[in-house]
Amino acid sequence: LPFEVKILGSSSATPTTERNQSSQLLNIHEQFYLLDCGEGTQLQLLKAKAKINKIRHIYISHLHGDHYLGLFGLISSMHLGGRNAPLTIFGPRGLAEIITLQLRYSETILTYPVNFYELDETPSVIFEDDKITVTVIAMNHRIKCYGFIFKEKEKKRKLIKEKIPAEMRLQDIVKLKNGEDLYSDSGELVIKNAEVTYPPRHCRSYAYCADTLYDERILQFISDVDLLYHESTFSSELQDRAIKTHHSTAREAGIIARKANAGMLIIGHFSTRYRDLRPLLAEARNEFPNTMLAFEGELFSIEEKFLTNVPSGGN
Ligand SMILES: [Zn+2]
Ligand SMILES: [Zn+2]
Repeated sequence: LPFEVKILGSSSATPTTERNQSSQLLNIHEQFYLLDCGEGTQLQLLKAKAKINKIRHIYISHLHGDHYLGLFGLISSMHLGGRNAPLTIFGPRGLAEIITLQLRYSETILTYPVNFYELDETPSVIFEDDKITVTVIAMNHRIKCYGFIFKEKEKKRKLIKEKIPAEMRLQDIVKLKNGEDLYSDSGELVIKNAEVTYPPRHCRSYAYCADTLYDERILQFISDVDLLYHESTFSSELQDRAIKTHHSTAREAGIIARKANAGMLIIGHFSTRYRDLRPLLAEARNEFPNTMLAFEGELFSIEEKFLTNVPSGGN
């Protein structure tokens, strides 16, 4: 099952001819989630051949224009496309009011329900179903800004088919998948779980850390994340400017990834002053080698993998 991040935009503040404003499309188990929606996101979704009516949730990190000015256009296109499925939009206080106003003055009654979820408490779990949980955390920016962590839920153990007796009862299979050993009615151990099951697959995770100053308070929430996106607006030469504008440098993004023990780092939200991003990449890699650049159209996929502990016993 996929767990993928598609980069739709990597530019901060204004778009350039090569880079769009912030947006990413997540595909988790064929469910689609949009992260931020800068101007031009619709075009990027078209280029990515994404079906916009399959987008289930939209998460808006903050109300700077480069993160949400594409939202009303996208909502309108979903309407023109005859969408029926409800859309949930998670965003800061004020977003519902802004969108409602635009709808009111265009006299649009949408073909589908929109549920606004106003972000407030951090950290908190803002969504969960049987597959994933989404947690919101606070970023440190000029206005209220949020980060989002997507994590797969704890999975079941996997049965080793050859080692499972053919006549096993359904309730015993459920027990085995839940990691329990099987006992007879008289209390004797009949089947040792570790001998007939594989450990559950690793729960994959992704953290989207939008506009922020370097702030180690996020580390506790993103530790051991498989894939980390951290903004990296400037290179270290402009450290002062990063501090003044409440942004991070590529080096700082690398330090956060290293301290969080992330699997991989994606840097993005690049200032339009950089045509060549290689110096930023080099700077981040100097702190955290497994760093990649966010690049329009780039896909980052987290493979399913087993945990390292293998079943004991058996032959
Ligand atoms: Zn921004
Ligand atoms: Zn911002």
